[in-house]
Amino acid sequence: MSKGLVIVYTGNGKGKTTAALGSALRAYGRGLKVALMYFLKDSNQGEINCIEKLDGFDYFVFGTGRFINFDDIKPEDLEPVKKGLDKLKEILENETYDMVVLDEVLITLYYGLIETSDLLEIMDSRKSTHLILTGRYAPSGIIECADIVSEIGKIKHHFDKGAPSIQGIEY
Ligand code: ATP
Ligand code: MG
Repeated sequence: MSKGLVIVYTGNGKGKTTAALGSALRAYGRGLKVALMYFLKDSNQGEINCIEKLDGFDYFVFGTGRFINFDDIKPEDLEPVKKGLDKLKEILENETYDMVVLDEVLITLYYGLIETSDLLEIMDSRKSTHLILTGRYAPSGIIECADIVSEIGKIKHHFDKGAPSIQGIEY
């Protein structure tokens, strides 16, 4: 049996996480078991209210919701990310799900919370599980290993006018 696909949604435009959620919903509708793993984000996400109603669609939160920067990375940012990686390893080994979304995992690579080589090693252990990775700044190693990579470019975003994050639109 061939390995599951690796799909990447990256770029600086809005739509990466929502594309992953749409893909997950499509898969779930076809009977696939789906897991959504949030990196960096907390559980204050609108879609969770839907996912909780679905059998065979699970979510795991490995974040604090804190916005990280290169000069301000704390142990409490790192710990959940490491737990997330361990969980991913276990899920892939046991083939618990047919599809796993790793939301914002690419941001954790960019900020060095996870080594790209460590993630690639875990991803390579997958059997038939499809993986979807989201976040800005996909590194070349991830792009090389992926089957599908979409870069979502920003033409306009209301954040540039100083708009706040809106419930139901951004989270
Ligand atoms: P949508 O969710 O509407 O599809 P998107 O996924 O394309 O948008 P992004 O700007 O990549 O949009 O994701 C925004 C979210 O990613 C932020 O609200 C935040 O939760 C998380 N995020 C991005 N950068 C960081 C960071 N440096 N630290 C922590 N979280 C971050
Ligand atoms: Mg996102």
